[in-house]
Amino acid sequence: MAFYSGLSGIVKGIGNFLTGTVSVVGTLFGDILGRLFGIVGFFLDLIGIRFKKKLRLKYFILLDERGTPLVPQESVVENFNITKRIFDEQADIEIIQAGILEVGGAPAGALDVAGPVEGFFENWSAVGTYFNMLAGIGPFTRELSVIIVRTLGWDHTGRAQSFIFPAANFVMVTKARIHSANPDTGEILVPPATATTAHEIGHACGLIHRKPKENLMHDIPGGNSPVPWERGEKLSFGQSLWARGSKFVWYF
Ligand SMILES: [Zn+2]
Repeated sequence: MAFYSGLSGIVKGIGNFLTGTVSVVGTLFGDILGRLFGIVGFFLDLIGIRFKKKLRLKYFILLDERGTPLVPQESVVENFNITKRIFDEQADIEIIQAGILEVGGAPAGALDVAGPVEGFFENWSAVGTYFNMLAGIGPFTRELSVIIVRTLGWDHTGRAQSFIFPAANFVMVTKARIHSANPDTGEILVPPATATTAHEIGHACGLIHRKPKENLMHDIPGGNSPVPWERGEKLSFGQSLWARGSKFVWYF
């Protein structure tokens, strides 16, 4: 018995390793390929001929241990609408809703995801494999996924999967940052905490952190703290140009 359970552990380990590697390498490859093919669009953008592009976004709401969704559907719809508005205004990207799904049966550690140190290995863990299977792996995954978790390690409120974020095929956002009100106290967070989702999508589209507070990619340490939310919604022209070249952003 011990032999067989040991064997199944090894098989699972190999499976996780393969899924994680295909996900990271494949997604990164897809992004590079997408930017090469998109070079004409890039130059059109650069001279100001800018057509609206599209990004398909899917939400996964994890169920807790008692089978209760971490957040209600209405909160996700509100989150989607704010995220859509930000990308429409800042980058001429139309975000299309590709589904809001409630999913149970997550492995241990998926509801409360570990910190960045463990996060380095996350792609190759059981949790990483579960999330990768939800999001879809490989270079030609067209939809970007937002996975709503309960907590993230190191007090993070959101995190683009993977330590190389152009390779992210999903982002994680804590339940506290989905609705514009704190789910436990009902207090409205101003400006909306929901910019977290847009910030993480920015990472998945290849954007890095910026200094100005009004920028969407401004980073706040200790993001779970109750201090006023200081991140803005702005993207510079260069940032919008880079985000529009992402493999998740298409003309059709
Ligand atoms: Zn960030």
